[in-house]
Amino acid sequence: MAETKPNYQKLHITEQPITLSNWHCHVNWINTSLILVVPIFGCIAAFFTKLQPATAAWAILYYFWTGLGITAGYHRLWAHRSYEASLPLKIFLACVGGGAVQGSIRWWSSKHRAHHRWTDTVKDPYSVRKGVWYSHFMWMVMKQNPKDRGRTDISDLNHDPIVVWQHRHYGNFILVFGMFFPMLVAGLGWGDWQGGLVYAGILRFLFVQQATFCVNSLAHWLGDQPFDDRNSPRDHVLTALFPSDYRNAIEWWKYDPTKWSIWVWKQLGLASNLKQFRANEIEKGRVQQLQKKVDQKRAKLDWGVPLEQLPILSWDEFEVESQSGKPLTVIAGVVHDLTHFIHEHPGGKVLINSAIGKDATGLFNGGVYSHSNAAHNLLSSMRVGVIRGGGEVEIWRRRNSDKAI
Ligand SMILES: [Zn+2]
Repeated sequence: MAETKPNYQKLHITEQPITLSNWHCHVNWINTSLILVVPIFGCIAAFFTKLQPATAAWAILYYFWTGLGITAGYHRLWAHRSYEASLPLKIFLACVGGGAVQGSIRWWSSKHRAHHRWTDTVKDPYSVRKGVWYSHFMWMVMKQNPKDRGRTDISDLNHDPIVVWQHRHYGNFILVFGMFFPMLVAGLGWGDWQGGLVYAGILRFLFVQQATFCVNSLAHWLGDQPFDDRNSPRDHVLTALFPSDYRNAIEWWKYDPTKWSIWVWKQLGLASNLKQFRANEIEKGRVQQLQKKVDQKRAKLDWGVPLEQLPILSWDEFEVESQSGKPLTVIAGVVHDLTHFIHEHPGGKVLINSAIGKDATGLFNGGVYSHSNAAHNLLSSMRVGVIRGGGEVEIWRRRNSDKAI
């Protein structure tokens, strides 16, 4: 019946099932060309292109520049504003960042802010909850439903003339800094025009793209969570939890070339106002996380029956029970059954026998031997009752000695 059919014309393409006749409408062809079609073409071309050592070195160097454009530029400068950059540095980062072929600063930073703001929800543009492949690159290959878009404030980016300029001419940035410039350097430098285009251009940006995409996908699955485990970001993305910190690794020696570059730019007067989260705040997160792990491990161990669940005995009852042959002793107001331990006692059977039927708190805690923490733990697994009033009291002893007289 016609009226029960969903009206597909009113639905966004992402709300319609993928069929043989409409699958191409689901694909974002511009993104797909830049992250799949051109890179695959580059891989094929590499079979027919000899790799010269100078071109290989240039490709690696340009890989680092364009990677820095993303990490120091797109990510820490524009998406998180973790420092301020002078105009020449901004122009450099906008150019090499554009050469990484990952979208304009404006597009990339707005998605990234949404990713932090809406982490692991449907509004997270590359939520890892939708699968590793989705968070890696399928979120760009397939069209997205505008209804699910997590909105963020990018008014600061709209007021940044470099961001606006790069966004407006982004197509040229891809052509010039993604392919033409690396080709020009190799071509004019040592006559390797083709190698420059294939290796320093296309394959190099393929590697930068994949490295960045891995942060969105694999980095949410692998590694430790030393700061907070409520969200999926892991160890190497400290930035995920302290996004306005210009560093990724706090310790200066940990591999973090972006941090080192920003620091060098500061010394050169190109960067300023480097933001750092207070060490105390970062340390708090780390300690709380450690505590959580300790608590989890602790919960798995046998710490003996909780005191509040043990039966309460009077001193009389304790004496009666231990005289009837049960090897019971009282330590710190708690009754312990030594049946299975008498023969294992490292201090020997005689010493432990001397504690049976008595309050051995003093003996246990240094009267004869001050027991280790391990002994205290072991003891707790033998507890069977609690003495009313806490232990043998003086009044008892006096009464018993009166009796003896
Ligand atoms: Zn971030």
